[in-house]
Amino acid sequence: MSRRRIIAGNWKMNKTPSEAVELVNTLKDLVKNDDVDVVYCVPAIDIVPVAEAIKGSNVQLGAENFYIEDKGAFTGEISAPMLKDAGVKYIIIGHSERRDIFGENDILINKKVKKAFASGLSPILCCGESLELREAGVYEEWIRRQIKWDLDGLTADQVSNLVIAYEPIWAIGTGKTATADQAQEVCKLIRDYIAELYDAATAEAVRIQYGGSMNAANAAELLSKPDIDGGLIGGASLKPDFGQIVNA
Ligand code: PEP
Repeated sequence: MSRRRIIAGNWKMNKTPSEAVELVNTLKDLVKNDDVDVVYCVPAIDIVPVAEAIKGSNVQLGAENFYIEDKGAFTGEISAPMLKDAGVKYIIIGHSERRDIFGENDILINKKVKKAFASGLSPILCCGESLELREAGVYEEWIRRQIKWDLDGLTADQVSNLVIAYEPIWAIGTGKTATADQAQEVCKLIRDYIAELYDAATAEAVRIQYGGSMNAANAAELLSKPDIDGGLIGGASLKPDFGQIVNA
């Protein structure tokens, strides 16, 4: 089975609404590729103008965060139905910055994944180890534990439609990329673990991205690996380089 490649930009807390539209226009011709899912995950305030700006293009819209309730007294939060109504398809869940800076744990992350599916959003679930855990040689256990908790209670059908981003924390925004072999090793480990938890067909279907300082120079090698089905890209998603990654 061949999995469709997915290249997603995580804009993080960058770009005002007018800058966001400018970036979409800059990238417009560079990201054309009908064989790849191209996604812009943008700050909440940019969702509406970016939805308008990508109309008629191959780009799909993603968000960076949401809360698990549909509506109510949750000051400052945004709900899945709000995102859906604005044209959002993908939602990043469990990014290490949400885990580390905003204290999101695997219980909440699991609820978010379930809520996203229930609301018709496609989760991009992030996992990854710190430098300490890698150096201590316990990263495999750590990743398995994250996957086990974050997927708890999901059906095989849901997992088949999931995107998982393996993002070693030591490689995010540091300019230090995992080697293609290191990234492949963990992406394969995730796929094998899903085969254990579910079955071979589910493991074959789930799309697994690598994320962590992916750029125009290293994308082709990372994406040539058999278990790497795409990338989640931070810094380079804000530059014309993103087009080179999409077409790597
Ligand atoms: C990210 O934060 O998802 C990421 C991969 O960032 P960067 O590409 O800047 O390392």
